[in-house]
Amino acid sequence: MASQAPWPCAAISEAELGPRTTIKVGGSVEWLLEPAHPDEFVTAWRACLERDLAPLVLGGGANLLIADGRRSGVVITTERMSRVFRPNRNEGRDWTANGDPSAPVSQRSDDDSAPELVAWAGASMPGLVRAARELGWSGLEGLVGVPGHVGGGVAMNAGGRWGEMWDVVQSVRVLTPEGELEDRPRDACSPSYRNGNLGGAVVLGAVLRLEPANRLEIKERMRQYLSEKSAAQPVTERSSGCIFKNPDPEQSDGRSAGKLIDDCGGKGLSVGDAVVSPKHGNFIVNTGRARATDVLELIERVRRLVEDESGVALQTEVRMW
Ligand SMILES: Cc1cc2nc3c(=O)[nH]c(=O)nc-3n(C[C@H](O)[C@H](O)[C@H](O)COP(=O)(O)OP(=O)(O)OC[C@H]3O[C@@H](n4cnc5c(N)ncnc54)[C@H](O)[C@@H]3O)c2cc1C
Repeated sequence: MASQAPWPCAAISEAELGPRTTIKVGGSVEWLLEPAHPDEFVTAWRACLERDLAPLVLGGGANLLIADGRRSGVVITTERMSRVFRPNRNEGRDWTANGDPSAPVSQRSDDDSAPELVAWAGASMPGLVRAARELGWSGLEGLVGVPGHVGGGVAMNAGGRWGEMWDVVQSVRVLTPEGELEDRPRDACSPSYRNGNLGGAVVLGAVLRLEPANRLEIKERMRQYLSEKSAAQPVTERSSGCIFKNPDPEQSDGRSAGKLIDDCGGKGLSVGDAVVSPKHGNFIVNTGRARATDVLELIERVRRLVEDESGVALQTEVRMW
């Protein structure tokens, strides 16, 4: 049932969350709020605080495992906050200005002297990477094949061996848990491995600084990275991306989490329809009707197996609600 009231933005009561994740697992929430603009997000957040509710933020659900059953309270999704545009330099970095929002950003390039993009939190990462490629702006091609939203990517510092989200972040607009808006320049932030270190603040959007480059070379790099990624990871299957963070190389003899799991015989382990991918040990795939409890049990089995066999205690990268 969709309803506007009593929230200051679109709201769905008793919303199913599983279909909004890439692993397609998990139950429902009492209220799902869908602000369509960063300002609307702020109003929705403050409305939650007034009701003594602590909302959770859902991006593209690409690194998230949501419990089965019904959760009371509120989840706010960035799904509708999907704009990407070139900042209007006459008006400063106005977060709402810049011509016709329906025109693809990649068709509005006539000036390479300021290769900047503003991306709202709900902008699709794959869409952003493609837009930068079409503009002939380099810096995001290492994130090709990474699903989810820009807000989630900034909060998690998404990336891998070819680059990370924070390589191109010039500033972020965040909302603190107390409901205060802040613009934080790159220098005031300390992102680390798979962590934007934003102290619990919500990313409303980011200003990204890219580098003009040869469009065909960008395209070729993306093709190469994607083909390597697809060969190594189950990218077309239902998963939450990497389950565990890569451990300290000194403890693991330089082995990644996936390699450790493989070496310990973890590939192919299963609980119900949740299976450790035979293609990559650090991915759990939902091969049918897996429940969150199946995935959680499998995560614990793999963690115990690796600790017993190698002595390395793996830490989860996937976020769990
Ligand atoms: C096939 C596949 C391949 C992947 N490959 C990679 C990879 O190569 N590198 C990599 O790093 N990741 C990878 N991932 C994981 C995932 O794509 C990234 O972690 C992504 O950045 C998650 O973004 P999201 O919007 O989906 O976040 P969600 O899964 O929705 O949320 C993840 C966490 O971030 C929080 N969050 C979401 N939005 C915001 C916001 N606006 N502000 C603050 N917090 C927020 C959520 O509350 C949650 O705690 C992969 C996933 C899949 C399924």
